[in-house]
Amino acid sequence: MPTVLIVAEQQPDGHLRKATLNALSAGKALAQKVGAELHVAVLGKDVAKVADELKTYGPKVVHSGSAAGLEHYIAEAHAPALADLATSLKADYVGAAATAQGKDLMPRLAARLKAAMASEVLGFEGQGADVTFTRPMWAGNVIASVKLTTPVKVFTVRPTEFNAAEPGPAGEVTAFSPKVDAVKTKLIEFKEVKSARPDLSEAKVVVAGGRGTKGDFKELEALADELGAAVGASRAACDAGWVPNDLQVGQTGKVVAPTLYIAIGISGAIQHIAGMKGSRVIVAINKDAEAPIFQVADYGLVGDLFKVLPELRAAIKAAK
Ligand SMILES: Cc1cc2nc3c(=O)[nH]c(=O)nc-3n(C[C@H](O)[C@H](O)[C@H](O)COP(=O)(O)OP(=O)(O)OC[C@H]3O[C@@H](n4cnc5c(N)ncnc54)[C@H](O)[C@@H]3O)c2cc1C
Repeated sequence: MPTVLIVAEQQPDGHLRKATLNALSAGKALAQKVGAELHVAVLGKDVAKVADELKTYGPKVVHSGSAAGLEHYIAEAHAPALADLATSLKADYVGAAATAQGKDLMPRLAARLKAAMASEVLGFEGQGADVTFTRPMWAGNVIASVKLTTPVKVFTVRPTEFNAAEPGPAGEVTAFSPKVDAVKTKLIEFKEVKSARPDLSEAKVVVAGGRGTKGDFKELEALADELGAAVGASRAACDAGWVPNDLQVGQTGKVVAPTLYIAIGISGAIQHIAGMKGSRVIVAINKDAEAPIFQVADYGLVGDLFKVLPELRAAIKAAK
């Protein structure tokens, strides 16, 4: 029977990253299509607890690999250890979420496994050996259907395209001892950006600002806090140095799909739309009624953001 192996990801504090549950859903969907068993791998210094959590989501086996030298994610150390595991399992498909870590790790893993790779996969088509991977190209304007023809196939999935896995029949946990190569990269320090706001990739509400803010994010941030939202930004706002780069939404930033996305002073370039068009409800505030953002918005407000935002925030406060 073929094997689909999903690589789980831990946050620096040791907790399972939510996007892993989306990758598990994708793994389940693929396993069904190709008639495979679903396995999960988790690597770290002490991953027994996370492995126990993972087994509740219905995989056949969780491979729990604890070893010194894997306490922090370093692609150079994790990729060979995972390649050894995938080879020993004779895994046919190896996948992970297309997070910053997944995007860094999986191409290295693919190279080691001499595997073709599909990145940012949105879904699977066909059955059995004929299964193809759908993935966006050209800022999401084209959806390609890709067939991987190598014996081992590697992929990353776009977390926003798959629901988080639901608990299922508990699988078994198998501990293994990853061989950790001596690596030339050493983690010196991990500086976490602490924010009281939710994580942009996982937030239910995102309030995003663009060049129209002229660098003044104060009102926008106040609105975000009123709504318990994460703050996002267009590339223009990030490039201008108004907000950190990790807030960028779009083709070369984060892909988000919150329940509510409020775009403020953002024109709606295709590269921005590529990162937020999966949002359930899109609200646009822009002083230009012709701005392309209104073509994807469910609700549009034509007005000057500096006048509109305080009024909107006061109205939300009053409604509460
Ligand atoms: C390869 C490539 C990758 C890219 N990747 C990304 C990406 O990941 N994410 C991204 O965002 N962009 C990306 N871009 C850039 C993208 O093409 C646009 O340049 C960028 O999104 C524009 O940002 P903006 O909408 O904030 O600015 P602008 O296009 O300048 O729009 C500003 C908007 O603010 C409005 N406005 C001005 N003043 C006010 C006011 N007082 N009240 C209300 N509205 C006001 C204006 O009417 C205008 O619509 C990429 C480009 C390339 C070439």
